Amino acid sequence: MPNADLLARSLSSVWHPCTQMKRHEALPLVPIARGEGVWLYDFEGRRYLDAVSSWWVNLFGHCNLRINAAITEQLGKLEHVMLAGFTHEPVVQLSERLAQLAPAGLGHCFYASDGASATEIALKMSAHYWRNLGKPQKTGFISLQNSYHGETLGALSVTDVALFRDAYGALLKQNATVASPDWRNAEAGESAADYALRCADMLEAHLRQHHDIAAFIVEPLVQGAAGMAMYHPAYLQRVGELCSQYGVHFIADEIAVGMGRTGTMFACEQADIRPDFLLLSKGISGGYLPLSVVMATDEIYRAFYADEAARGFLHSHSYTGNPLACRAALATLDIFVQDDVLSANRRKAAYLNRIAAPLREHPRVRNFRNIGMIWAFEVESQHPDFAQRCFALALQRELLLRPMGNTVYFMPPYVIGEEEMQILVTRTLDIVEVLA
Ligand SMILES: *Cc1c(COP(=O)(O)O)cnc(C)c1O
Repeated sequence: MPNADLLARSLSSVWHPCTQMKRHEALPLVPIARGEGVWLYDFEGRRYLDAVSSWWVNLFGHCNLRINAAITEQLGKLEHVMLAGFTHEPVVQLSERLAQLAPAGLGHCFYASDGASATEIALKMSAHYWRNLGKPQKTGFISLQNSYHGETLGALSVTDVALFRDAYGALLKQNATVASPDWRNAEAGESAADYALRCADMLEAHLRQHHDIAAFIVEPLVQGAAGMAMYHPAYLQRVGELCSQYGVHFIADEIAVGMGRTGTMFACEQADIRPDFLLLSKGISGGYLPLSVVMATDEIYRAFYADEAARGFLHSHSYTGNPLACRAALATLDIFVQDDVLSANRRKAAYLNRIAAPLREHPRVRNFRNIGMIWAFEVESQHPDFAQRCFALALQRELLLRPMGNTVYFMPPYVIGEEEMQILVTRTLDIVEVLA
């Protein structure tokens, strides 16, 4: 099938996400026929290096043979069964393994399909916990400025991205935001750690004045949709203390940063904290199937454990704990062990940082930053529609880049090789030269 045919049919029948559809009059959709490793191929033999891991989900490449085999094997046994009143091996194994990997004490896994649903669940569980404890007034939530926790109504109420939020303001519960510890906002001469602690003080000031707060929700170490804003782990440490002190749940949204993305299996490890809720999605299934999980502590779990049905957590999605998705997740965890992925990623990151020196030192590049397998920088450019222009120039150079404003980022699948990193860096430098 030629590309053009599929594009026309897609535009007339598919309403694409996060897209002003009229823009596709000028900027064509990219039809993808197949994927292999870090590469996506169209129907006419053109290829694109997936430097954004297909919206941050892919870990071990497209059509990974080991994950394919695991899903195929599961497909021959059980494709799905409802998880209310029933259970199956993949969901039990996955829950046990996640509990072993995560900070100790998060032994109760509640499943859904998408990241936003995990956020909804954590918010509902938190408020319901306080209600079960006789504190029904605790229904408020706090998030960071420029936070992103998903786009369903509850999740959007703790998301602070104007573009996603403005049209729906009237539908949303009003929650508070506090200053982001994003080190780009530090004063001249102020260290990232000092700025992080100053922001934690601002959170404390808020907590001192408001006594109806159920939970504080945060993306540990990197605020992805804010433009890969990075901050010092001291913030998380201090906030962990404040949450205990003021009786507020700490929700760690590791949907984007979990599964090794920041260099440790979970970003929380770098601050040595144990949140009350840990949210995972995106990479958890290796980027194969929709799966999310809310990991909760014993203390949370016990507050729901009672004779009355109404004290239980009565929330469900049809595909909760889907066996195929859980098997993909188990295969993904196996690869982490078999290939010693976290060590391999450290070597890959060091290599990419070495070859990226000309990019980091480019006179038009600002705030070059890296943590684990995430890189980002701002490009000083007069171009009015930088992100879209950069995206188009990248496609011409076999790259899938998807800048946010003037922020270019790399979030490649972990299987990226040295030659592919060279392609990524040299061609991005070329694009920066064109647009700067
Ligand atoms: C992507 C993302 C979500 C939402 O996940 P979806 O699967 O897109 O609903 C929530 N939180 C963070 C930090 C994310 O990056």
